[in-house]
Amino acid sequence: MTDSIFTRIMAKEIPADFVYEDDVVICIRDIAPKAPVHVLLIPRKPIQSLAHLSDEDSEIMAHMMMTIPKIAQQLGLKSGFRTIINTGPDGGQEVDHIHFHILGGRKFGFE
Ligand code: 5GP
Repeated sequence: MTDSIFTRIMAKEIPADFVYEDDVVICIRDIAPKAPVHVLLIPRKPIQSLAHLSDEDSEIMAHMMMTIPKIAQQLGLKSGFRTIINTGPDGGQEVDHIHFHILGGRKFGFE
C-alpha cells in the first residue's frame, strides 16, 4: 500500500487541525466538513480499509471504538453524534487508509 494523505499528515509533512492523538491513532478535523463538527479518527497503522483488516488489527479497532466517545465528549457533542466508515469505491471511500468519520452539531436522518 502506498502512503496516503493521512500518513503524510501523521508525519507532519502536511498540516492538519489535530484534536487528539496517542500512540495508536490521530484525530483531525475534516478539510471539507459535512457538519458543524466533522473529524476523522485514523490509526497510525496504514490499514487500507475495513475490507483489509487482519486478526492482528483487532486491538487497534477496539482502541478506535473506545476512543470515539472520549473525542465526542471532548468536542462537546452532548446530544449525540454520527460515526461512518466508508469502504471501497461503492462505499464512497476516497482515502485508502481506514478511518472513522465522527460528525455532530446537527441532527442526522437515515438516508
Ligand atoms: P472517505 O471519503 O475516504 O471516507 O473520507 C475522506 C475524507 O478525508 C473526506 O471527508 C475528505 O474531506 C477528507 N480529506 C481529504 N484530504 C484531506 C486533507 O488533506 N486534510 C484533511 N484534514 N482532510 C482531508
